[in-house]
Amino acid sequence: AGPEGPIQVQRIDAASAAAERDRYALEQDLRGALANGEFELRYQPQIDAASGRVSGAEALLRWRHPERGMVSPTLFIPVLEEAGLIEEVGLWALNAACREARSWHRLGQGPLTVAVNVSAHQLDGADLHSRIKRTLERHSLRAGMLEIELTESAAAADVNRAERLFEGLRGLGIHIAIDDFGTGFSSLSALRVLAFDKIKIDRQFVTEVEARRDSQAICQSVIALARGLGIRVIAEGVEREEEYLWLRRHGCSEFQGYYFSPPLGAPDFQAFVRNPAAL
Ligand code: C2E
Ligand code: CA
Ligand code: CA
Ligand code: CA
Repeated sequence: AGPEGPIQVQRIDAASAAAERDRYALEQDLRGALANGEFELRYQPQIDAASGRVSGAEALLRWRHPERGMVSPTLFIPVLEEAGLIEEVGLWALNAACREARSWHRLGQGPLTVAVNVSAHQLDGADLHSRIKRTLERHSLRAGMLEIELTESAAAADVNRAERLFEGLRGLGIHIAIDDFGTGFSSLSALRVLAFDKIKIDRQFVTEVEARRDSQAICQSVIALARGLGIRVIAEGVEREEEYLWLRRHGCSEFQGYYFSPPLGAPDFQAFVRNPAAL
């Protein structure tokens, strides 16, 4: 190493030590966040292609930190997972989403579903199936109104466990969506083992789909795959009218994204369902 070598190493060490301290501080704050009522859910509308109406919402977790303000879930969810806190917070989110969805029963033109994200780490936990079942019972929510979103990579990481969970949940009448589809490099044989109800095309393939041949090829294949499997397909991250029109023309069954609405607080979501044009 040249004369600068050791200094470089020290700088990197100092930087990673600072990152490590910051992460530790975040973890400590997360330990109290649930008890302090710092978590909230936002609801992002999902639009049905056939009717043009809101068919439901995805519940997205938010953390309002007392000093840092809103912290992105892409930042704090990995910390929750590594600290072993995701099970508890995940159940909190499930419960809050089901309670909210129960209050939608006379809101829409038809029934509105709520989609809840489940982390791979929650699959390891004690009996997710019976906890979900009890949550539905607690709120008298029909199982068909709940959708569980699991990423493709989480499903592929432990196909046997995912298979058992999916079978149990579908036995109750709960729907399952494979999230971030196309990013998990899962094999087609995994898809054959797993029984699910919906594919969620990842945003990276939706962005500028009307102009990109590679994205078009991927979206068309995924839509054909869903059709062949007899299940629904939703595009996430639809930001522009051109993307929406291209996807609709090519047979996508549902849409979600900023073009329609960002994730909304519960009262705003209800207002959006009553009058989408007003917001
Ligand atoms: P995801 O499940 O893929 O959720 C979609 C993300 O895309 C959300 O980010 C949403 O706000 C954002 N989004 C929606 N429409 C658009 C759009 O048109 N353009 C762009 N650029 N983004 C859009 P968010 O809320 O920050 O969540 C990030 C990720 O955090 C989620 O990705 C999910 O993996 C995770 N997450 C959020 N809530 C929960 C939860 O309750 N449990 C678990 N396990 N994970 C969650
Ligand atoms: Ca999701
Ligand atoms: Ca997604
Ligand atoms: Ca995604």
